Amino acid sequence: MNMGTMMNRGEPNDLAAFWMPFTDNRGFKANPRMFVAADGMHYTAAAGHKVLDATGGLWCVNAGHNRAPIVEAVRKAAGELDFAPTFQLAHPRAFETASRLAMLMPEGLDRIFFTNSGSESVDTALKIALAYQRSIGQGSRTRLIGRERGYHGVGFGGISVGGIVGNRRQFGTLLTGVDHLRHTHDPARNAYSRGQPAHGADLAEDLERLVALHGAETIAAVIVEPVAGSTGVLVPPQGYLQRLRQICDAHGILLIFDEVITAFGRVGKATAAERFGVTPDLITMAKGLTNAAVPMGAVAARREVHDAIVDNAAPGIELFHGYTYSGHPLACAAALATFDLYAAEDLFERAIALEDYWADAVHSLKGAPHVIDCRSIGLIGGIELEPRPAAPTKRAMEVFHKAFDAGLLVRVTGDIIALSPPLILEKTHIDEIFGKLSDLLRTVS
Ligand code: PMP
Repeated sequence: MNMGTMMNRGEPNDLAAFWMPFTDNRGFKANPRMFVAADGMHYTAAAGHKVLDATGGLWCVNAGHNRAPIVEAVRKAAGELDFAPTFQLAHPRAFETASRLAMLMPEGLDRIFFTNSGSESVDTALKIALAYQRSIGQGSRTRLIGRERGYHGVGFGGISVGGIVGNRRQFGTLLTGVDHLRHTHDPARNAYSRGQPAHGADLAEDLERLVALHGAETIAAVIVEPVAGSTGVLVPPQGYLQRLRQICDAHGILLIFDEVITAFGRVGKATAAERFGVTPDLITMAKGLTNAAVPMGAVAARREVHDAIVDNAAPGIELFHGYTYSGHPLACAAALATFDLYAAEDLFERAIALEDYWADAVHSLKGAPHVIDCRSIGLIGGIELEPRPAAPTKRAMEVFHKAFDAGLLVRVTGDIIALSPPLILEKTHIDEIFGKLSDLLRTVS
């Protein structure tokens, strides 16, 4: 590892000081791969070559890179109002952004709390759920339910309800009073499903097991990703989310959809809630909210949830929660320009229009070397590779590195290649992505 010397301190080639997140720092620093520019569907790598972005950055650049209207809006806003607090004061664009965002949400989820990231949105939603239960006299409901293989960011709330052991085991006891549903991945019954798998609605009954175990009167909320992305593209079985909703309703439990990756067109609608026809009580978002140009997250709350907390509070501050940068002026400018762009280019509808072509391409890898499953929904694809004996995840990592060098950015998680391209992509890009992947899979052992 380059430990930094007095020679290059403060220079871009001093790789020591930046402690990279979710990275094998030693591996990266021995062979750094970097981007220096981006435009539309492509990055430019520091080495000079173009890299086709099949992952929308990190599932976030839904309208493509460096889009002029967003760049201009941020530039203009930066020259007008660099920062304004939203604690007891505000600026008009924060209200406009909330109102416009509410218009994209399912009917009734029209109260918006701003954050700066998906992780903050998750912690905010969990806190709102707890505060809500307390405000309606259900203060014994303190338990939070997540799901195995769930990813909800890296806050203590998020890793506690999350179901990824690697993200949990370094950090002690986490939140107490958390339990987990079983995950919905069932390759024996659902391998190579296109769209929603046919089998597995029954897995929602696992919530009844937890209700029987703990008592409904102890449970505040359940949080799930409608489509789990970070653990390898797990699409909800037909009927599963509907059944979860019913069980939550029967027991007074709030349902939270973590839509940090699924909102803003990824599954062809503004939200996965709309796509699957199930309305949760809270939706967490980030990423595509600003096309990732400026960090921003949000929680959309059902109006009754908001009203219960606000109306039942003693005079004064109703919810003791917020971030210095909640509703940051530059983030609001980016979000508003992003909403305009989504509408002007019909990008959510575009995802629907391309979905079949995309799914055909994803599933064309069935039978390619090492492939044991392909999954798809909207403009999301998951290609699962057989783990290398004694070296799980290494094969997918090799594909990741080789793809980068061949001019293609994919994401790998475990032994799964996850794809989530900008929604502006053309069929020729789809052909290129899967042509390259098919060639690359033949080169790995
Ligand atoms: N929730 C989900 C479902 C996510 O996919 C992510 C990020 N991939 C997060 C939360 C965390 O978002 P952030 O990295 O912005 O904190």
